[in-house]
Amino acid sequence: MELTCQECGYIDEALEFGYICKIGILPTGADELRQCPRCGAKVFLVMAEKLEEEEEQMRELSRQLAVIPGNAPEFMLREARGIIRKLNGINMRWNIAALDDFIGERQRELGLGLRRN
Ligand SMILES: [Zn+2]
Repeated sequence: MELTCQECGYIDEALEFGYICKIGILPTGADELRQCPRCGAKVFLVMAEKLEEEEEQMRELSRQLAVIPGNAPEFMLREARGIIRKLNGINMRWNIAALDDFIGERQRELGLGLRRN
């Protein structure tokens, strides 16, 4: 997700903006205050927007993962691994049990040895 500095107009990935602190406590997670790497101005990262974007990304990745066949060629399996890695990363924030199950199921079907525990 990209952030824009209101002071100088600098645009970059949110991660490039230095983390200052969290603000407020919302059910969806707290908003964050970050700092513009160029001018040092304080920039808000609104979690609701970030989560909305992630939710969309999660749906799209799940769709992509769902259509990879069990006998997929190596290049598709590589893609599947990448998708699973991204989904796992996102789900660390969401903790959706059904998504965990779906990922685990697909890993077994595709023979990808990434099982946790
Ligand atoms: Zn700036």
